[in-house]
Amino acid sequence: MGLFDTKKCAFCGKEAGLITGLFGNDLAGGAYLCGECRKLCTPGDLKFSEMSVDDVKANMAIAAANRKKATSEYRETRKIKTGAYRDKNFLSVDENHGWFMNETDDSGWVYNLDDIYYYGLVFETALLEEGQYFHVDTYSCPELPKCPEGVRITDAKLKILLTDNELGVKELNLDITPSFSADEGEIRGAYACMHDFVEVMKVYKTAKKK
Ligand SMILES: [Zn+2]
Repeated sequence: MGLFDTKKCAFCGKEAGLITGLFGNDLAGGAYLCGECRKLCTPGDLKFSEMSVDDVKANMAIAAANRKKATSEYRETRKIKTGAYRDKNFLSVDENHGWFMNETDDSGWVYNLDDIYYYGLVFETALLEEGQYFHVDTYSCPELPKCPEGVRITDAKLKILLTDNELGVKELNLDITPSFSADEGEIRGAYACMHDFVEVMKVYKTAKKK
C-alpha cells in the first residue's frame, strides 16, 4: 500500500484520510480498522497487527457485553470520592456483583474487584522549602504511608494492578489528587479516599470468605 493510498475501514467502510488514517490500525491480512471503530474494542493493549477481522469482531463483542453490563446490570452500592472537599468522583462500586468503575474518566468500563491483585498509592514528592509546613496524619488508617519529615507530596495516584481480564487492562493509574496543585487539603482528601477504597476491599474480601 503506497503512502497516499486511502484506507477503507473493514468495519464501518469509511475511508480514512491521510491524517485520520494515522489514528487507525492495520490488521493481519491487510485489513484496516479506523480510529472510531477502535473505540468499539476493549481498552487494553491489543496486538492489532496479529489480529484478523474476525478476531477484532470477537473482541468488539466482548467490549459490547461489558458496555451492556454497565447499563443494564450494574447497580452502584458505593461511591468513592476524592478532592479536598470529597466532591470529586473517583470510583463507583457495585459490591453485590463485585464490580467497579473508574470515574476519573468517562470510559464506563466495568472491572472486577476479584481481578485486583495489588493496589497502593504512588506519590510524587518535593523537599519542603524553608518555612513550609506539611504533615499528613494517618492514624485512622495506619497501613497508609505517612509523609516523611521535610517532604511535601505534590501528586498522588492510586495504582491498581489486575490479573488477566476480558478488557485486557493490566494496570490502572487513577489520579487521586484531581486539581493541579496538590495542597495539604487535597492530600488529606486523597488519604480519606484511599481509606474508603481499602475499606471496600476489606469488606468485600471478608464477605467473600463467608
Ligand atoms: Zn471504522
